[in-house]
Amino acid sequence: MRILPVLAAATLSSALIAAPAAASTPVLGPTAYGYGGGIATVDATATGAGLDVLRHGGNAIDAAVAAAVTLGVTEPFVAGPASGGFLVYYDAKRHRVSTIDGREAGPATMTPTYFIDPVDGLPYDFQEARVSGLSTGVPGALATWDTALRQWGTRSLAGLLRPAAAVADRGFTVDAQFQQQVSDNLAAFGQFDSTKALYLPGGRPPAIGTTQRNPDLARTYRQIAAQGIGSFYLGPIGADLVKTVQHPPVSADPVGTWPYPIRPGVLTMDDLAAYRVRQPGPTVSDFRGLKVYGMSTPSSGGTAVSEALNILESANPSAADVTQVLHTYLEASALTFADRGRYVGAYTSPEVLKKLASDRWGAQRACQINPAAAMTKPVAPGDINASGCTPTAATLTPDNGLSTTNITVSDRWGNVVEWTFTLEQFGGNGMVVPGRGFMLNNELTDFNFAPTQGTAPDPNLPGPGKRPRSSMSPTIVLKGGKPFLALGSPGGASIITTVLQILVNRLVLGMPLPDALAAPRASQRNSAGIQAEPAFHTQYGPALTALGHSFGPDMAQIGAATAMEFTGYGGIIASAEPVRRGGGAAGVVHPTH
Ligand code: GLU
Repeated sequence: MRILPVLAAATLSSALIAAPAAASTPVLGPTAYGYGGGIATVDATATGAGLDVLRHGGNAIDAAVAAAVTLGVTEPFVAGPASGGFLVYYDAKRHRVSTIDGREAGPATMTPTYFIDPVDGLPYDFQEARVSGLSTGVPGALATWDTALRQWGTRSLAGLLRPAAAVADRGFTVDAQFQQQVSDNLAAFGQFDSTKALYLPGGRPPAIGTTQRNPDLARTYRQIAAQGIGSFYLGPIGADLVKTVQHPPVSADPVGTWPYPIRPGVLTMDDLAAYRVRQPGPTVSDFRGLKVYGMSTPSSGGTAVSEALNILESANPSAADVTQVLHTYLEASALTFADRGRYVGAYTSPEVLKKLASDRWGAQRACQINPAAAMTKPVAPGDINASGCTPTAATLTPDNGLSTTNITVSDRWGNVVEWTFTLEQFGGNGMVVPGRGFMLNNELTDFNFAPTQGTAPDPNLPGPGKRPRSSMSPTIVLKGGKPFLALGSPGGASIITTVLQILVNRLVLGMPLPDALAAPRASQRNSAGIQAEPAFHTQYGPALTALGHSFGPDMAQIGAATAMEFTGYGGIIASAEPVRRGGGAAGVVHPTH
């Protein structure tokens, strides 16, 4: 996160509205209590931008777009015009939950062997596919911003882009997180002149404390503000994107060495022009009398969170026995990931999705769980056509990921936005579009490069215009028909387990929301070893190992969530991470303490 000085918040305020700025934003910590709406993001500048909109009469959608376009500036390695994601929206007036699927789409010419090297018939290495033009899908970000504002917002996209352009011009202070993200990508970024010029001054990552400006992005935002999103999907910005994909701006004087050829992609202007957001109905399931709404395909997040909660509900561990709750959480996750791998992709039928999210299926899978002994991982997917307890046995490879960002917003009218978006890896495919200041996504590497399901069909192979399966899990929970919780997280496939674990912490173990976020995490995605944060491993490792669980290598941090709890009379607790990713920033319109 980057610290938002009080001054910068006020400047942003005055840039947004003609009237004098209201009292300046207090320093934004990870948790805020109050009423009148609020926002939580990973970054104080973005939270400040959204809060400013809320304070000046904008609604949750307006504030969410303000924060998203600001994140495009301050978190350029996960957000921006070439990103994609999923938005879940609770409309207070209509009492309805809707979604926007702004996931990247593959080119019309994409085939199932897209990521197979024609020379040797083998799948490309992940990094070889990632740092190439092949990995970039048509971005859904701008179409999402535009659709959300047109359907539910009150502000224009132009009016929200201009203050973000001012942030890009003015710059922000490089912190340790930002520098680390560049350092981790040194060799990839170092291959491209445009990326080097922006992020490797003097051939090195920018120093902590220096100011990172992006005048090219400021110009891009202003052009979109002036000409609309047609300048991207039909016009010169899109043409520059396509040119970068087809002719990567490979440097004659690279920083570091890259072990793979840098392959051009095949995305065209026709692919951009054909892009539309989708608006599928949300997934919905019951958990202990609550309604849990999530994102449908091409995200697997909604069905996976629902299935795992249903398994937990059916297994019903005693809340007093934390080891049993965690054991059941880990077992439910493994079973869910097996089913996700077998059944969930962009084109899964509504019947199968409904079955996976049903109580009955939860019970069929929960009967595999033995309270006294962990199952051997990986477990096999259940037979979707069977009616009894489903068997366990096969070998599957779990997928993984690192980056992304999440925002949670509400307003004084009771509308709620939960939104996760990403370039896939930190820094996407490593290429900044020359003269445009934004990075390209590598979202298409979320497809399986080769079949993973043995003789059964793989639901997540590439195909013409297809969208890759995601794990993004923006989730809104209603109690008695009204918002009770909203949450989401980055973290690749561990997004699902992070959202699930926060729900388990809050709803089963009864932790207050900020503690539910802060608690140490573990993720079991149907692999031999649990991936855990060191604090989780230390605290719960012995009891879980005694039940037969194995731990893989620890991971320093899993996820970077934001969340909100609605406490009655318009009261909210807005929560971001206190520590992970340098800590996030939450703010409310009227703070109470
Ligand atoms: N591309 C991943 C997905 O859609 C998210 C990336 C990440 O969080 O690492 O599931």
